[in-house]
Amino acid sequence: MKIKIGLLYGGKSAEHKVSMQTALAVTKAIDYEKFEIHPIYISEDGQWIKGPQLNSPAENVAALEFSSSALSLGTAGSSPAILNSNSEEERLDVIFPLLHGPNGEDGTVQGMLELLNLPYVGNGVLASAAGMDKVIMKNIFAQAGLNQVDYVSFIRSEWEKQQEVSYQQVETNIGYPCFVKPANLGSSVGISKCTNRSELEEAFKEAFQFDRKIIVEQGVTAREIEIGVLGNDEAECSVPGEIVPKKAFYDYKAKYEDGDTGLIIPAEISEAQYIELQELAKKAYKALDCSGLVRADFFLTAKGEFLINEVNTMPGFTPFSMFPLMWKHTGVEYPQLIERLVQLAIDRHEKKQ
Ligand code: ADP
Ligand code: MG
Ligand code: MG
Repeated sequence: MKIKIGLLYGGKSAEHKVSMQTALAVTKAIDYEKFEIHPIYISEDGQWIKGPQLNSPAENVAALEFSSSALSLGTAGSSPAILNSNSEEERLDVIFPLLHGPNGEDGTVQGMLELLNLPYVGNGVLASAAGMDKVIMKNIFAQAGLNQVDYVSFIRSEWEKQQEVSYQQVETNIGYPCFVKPANLGSSVGISKCTNRSELEEAFKEAFQFDRKIIVEQGVTAREIEIGVLGNDEAECSVPGEIVPKKAFYDYKAKYEDGDTGLIIPAEISEAQYIELQELAKKAYKALDCSGLVRADFFLTAKGEFLINEVNTMPGFTPFSMFPLMWKHTGVEYPQLIERLVQLAIDRHEKKQ
């Protein structure tokens, strides 16, 4: 019997397009001798649309095409309820939520899948939710004793009432350069680097367009070293990778559109640093109670200190993304990586570990 994978992609978030690219790549990589793919597309306005079963790679995830035709035919269900099949035959074995950002990577979809009692790839509710909120995540890392940059956070309504006080708080506690980020987003959306007051004011406005909560962090000059973690209770690490941004920082365009950001894999760090990095990544994994996978991102300062920047609970997953490439260099090719993730999902569900 083939394993029926429900591939959940698109999504109601700023990272919709990235998810589309990834879904296409997964349909191309998967072994159709072992798996069936059941595409489930989530439109930008939040409609859930089931596509036809795939027994061979999709040409493009003109899932988009099928979705619009399905919509016009009025045959598609349009809510998450389409996953709740009562018939044994139609029941999917595992869901692969290839979703980034809010309403996908943040525990909401994971919570629904828990309620439906469906195994799913990647992190559970708690890790997904905590990993999506940069303030909560950093608070948990601080509690676990992981080193990181100084940060402060603001809520929009507070800032609206006392803007000057907010800016002064940043200048007193953080200083310039600093990074202003929406608390709940990824792919560098809404993030600005500021070197003076007027940039700070602009950056607050920009970030608050995406979220009611923002984080302001001390800016560091450092190498960006990342590492992949895979597993449930027992986690394994990949070789490290390094990002070499060609611009001021690794922004959305550099990540997904230019395609010319340098990825160095394996990153050139010493053996001792690699050992330390693995320990830190596993500590972060445990602190957030992760399962399945994460990409743990660090800054390596000139002094040789690792500061954790973030973990991504559903990292970029095209074959050219850092996470799959780091695993490839560790000896796990893209199709095997997908299989490992599916197996981890089933194991977690069955053994509850
Ligand atoms: P996202 O979740 O959107 O990837 P990040 O926090 O990783 O957000 O920030 C995106 C990029 O911005 C990082 O990869 C890095 O290049 C730069 N950056 C973010 N925070 C800092 C910081 N505190 N100091 C220096 N560079 C930073
Ligand atoms: Mg992120
Ligand atoms: Mg990042």
